[in-house]
Amino acid sequence: MIYLDYQATTPLAPEAREAMMRWLGGPDSDCFGNPHSSHRMGRMAAAAIEVAREEVAALFPPGGKVIFTGSATEAINLAIRGSGVGPVAVSPIEHAAVLDTASATGPVHMLDVSPDGVCDPAQVLPADTRLIAVMQVNNEIGMIEPFIEWMGRARQAGALYLCDAVQAYGKIAVAQADMIAVSAHKFHGPKGVGALWLRDGVRLNEVQTGGGQERGLRSGTLSPALIAGFGAAAKLAKERMEEDAAHVEALWVRAREAFAGWTLNGSEDARWHGNLNIRRDGLDVNRLMSDCRNVMFSAGSACASGSGRPSHVLKAIGLSDRQAKSSIRLGFGRYTTLDEIERAAQAINAAAKEQAL
Ligand code: PLP
Repeated sequence: MIYLDYQATTPLAPEAREAMMRWLGGPDSDCFGNPHSSHRMGRMAAAAIEVAREEVAALFPPGGKVIFTGSATEAINLAIRGSGVGPVAVSPIEHAAVLDTASATGPVHMLDVSPDGVCDPAQVLPADTRLIAVMQVNNEIGMIEPFIEWMGRARQAGALYLCDAVQAYGKIAVAQADMIAVSAHKFHGPKGVGALWLRDGVRLNEVQTGGGQERGLRSGTLSPALIAGFGAAAKLAKERMEEDAAHVEALWVRAREAFAGWTLNGSEDARWHGNLNIRRDGLDVNRLMSDCRNVMFSAGSACASGSGRPSHVLKAIGLSDRQAKSSIRLGFGRYTTLDEIERAAQAINAAAKEQAL
C-alpha cells in the first residue's frame, strides 16, 4: 500500500516508538508508576514527562509553557472554552475543532478568506472581538496563513490569538501566538496526545476538573509512554527539519510534474508543499478511491471525507460543490519515496483517464 494521507496522520517514527516502549511498563518493569505519585517510581515517570516537555517546548517560541492534553482537539477546547472571553473571530477554513468549539461557546465572527486561501489580517474585525483563531497551515489545502501579522492584529485589537499549528509543528518554525495547539500524531509521534502552548501571562480557566494535573488546567493522569513518544518525535523533528523540508520539496516537484493535467486548489505560494490538493472536472472521487484501493489519499479532510458533503475549506475559497467534490488531497512527507509518488500518480491518472472515456 502507498500512504499519501500525511495530513490525516503520519507513521510513528522508530525513534518515538523506541522511547515509548520502556514507559508501557509491565509488571517486571519499574516504569509503570503514576507520574503524579510521590514515591520513587512516580518520580521516575514524572521525570520522563519533564524531559519530553522540554523536547516539545524546544519547537515553540520562548516565553511560554506546554500543557499536555489528549489531542489537539482537546487543546483547542481548553483554549477556547478556558479563555471564556468571546466573541471569537475565526477563519472559515479552520478545522472543525475550532469552528464547532467557537460556535458552541458564543457569538462567532467569520473572517474572509481569499480564493488563494489566505485570511487577510487587514480585514475589519468587530470592535468587541476578544479571541482570534487563525490556523498556521491549513490541513486541506496546505496554505500558510500570515500568523505573524495576525499576532500583531490581535495585540492591536486587545484580543488573544489562538493558532492551530497542528499541520505546522515539527515541519516549519511554529507560530507566534498567545495559545498554540499541536498534535503528536501529525509529525510521527503517537496518537492520543497533544499539547496547548500558553504564552506566559495568559490565564485560562480549567475545563476538565479533577486531580488538578497540568497546572490545574487539564486534570487526568498523564501517559508517560505517549508523552515520551511525543518528546522523541519533537526532538527528531527539530534535528531533521531542514532535511525533511528538502525531501518534501523534492516530492512536491515530482508530484506536480506527475499530476500536471490537474488544477491546483489554493495558491502555489505560501503553501506547505507536503500537501497537494488538486481537482479534475467531472471526476467521481468515490469511484477513483475504489479503483485505487492501494493508494491511501483523501477526498478532503479525514473528518469530512465520507460525509458526502463538499469540503467547507474548498467552498470557502470559492469552489463550486461540483469542483469541491472532484478534488483529492495527497499528503506526503519524511517516509514517502519518489517512487511511491510515481506509482501512485500512475494508478490515479490511469483511473481518472478511464473515467473520461
Ligand atoms: N487541527 C488541524 C488543522 C488538524 O488537521 C487536526 C487533525 O485532523 C486537528 C486540529 C485535530 O487534531 P487531533 O487529531 O489531535 O484531535
